[in-house]
Amino acid sequence: MVHLCRYVTARMEVVIVKIISRDSWGAKPNKTKFSKLGEVKGLVVHWSAYPVAIGNQAEMDQLKQIQRLHQVDRNWNDIAYNFLVGDTGQIYEGRGFGNRSAAQGGNSRQEINYNNKHYVAVCWLGGSKPEDQPSAEARAAISWLYEQVGGELRPHSSFKQTDCPGDAWRQWIIEKKTATIDELKKATNITAEDLSNASGPEMVHPQFIQKKLDIIIAKLENIETKLKLGRLIQ
Ligand SMILES: [Zn+2]
Repeated sequence: MVHLCRYVTARMEVVIVKIISRDSWGAKPNKTKFSKLGEVKGLVVHWSAYPVAIGNQAEMDQLKQIQRLHQVDRNWNDIAYNFLVGDTGQIYEGRGFGNRSAAQGGNSRQEINYNNKHYVAVCWLGGSKPEDQPSAEARAAISWLYEQVGGELRPHSSFKQTDCPGDAWRQWIIEKKTATIDELKKATNITAEDLSNASGPEMVHPQFIQKKLDIIIAKLENIETKLKLGRLIQ
């Protein structure tokens, strides 16, 4: 069953999203109160390292398996991730927005604390084989989450020595970053179309320069908005 969750962002915007709540997938309660997230620097992509879950039921079974691994075998407070995403494109609530994850790790206690305090963790339900490929729906779901979180988009392997989240996700992250840079480059370039629209003295006409500046400012504001969104509270 899909539940609509209501979250208030730091900009006091209300976001209504289709996220399967903990109750709906049958999560066990967290053992102790969650620590809160600090100022969010970005989103980190993980894989579960279990076989790719096919269909909603398999996804929910795997969520319970991961929670058992973290709560029972590893004796942690709860499932480590803030969110989990299946190949169906469904997003499941782990620790949710606003709470500190336990997924990032690092090379020292200090790093581990920092990485979990400042980064939101999302886990894809697959990755038992290095060649596992996430579905387009899973990628779209993580894209959407990233739009909400803002800031940096990073693979788990950028924090410590690990194969997680696999080459497919690492490649996807590189492509997403490249697309953003290309978009900015396009905004700041003077194109052939610009040249045909403005020739001779018009090239340095204040209105022409103003138009270019407006486009660049709009792009920068868009990036700023994204960064500001990186402080989601529950
Ligand atoms: Zn990971």
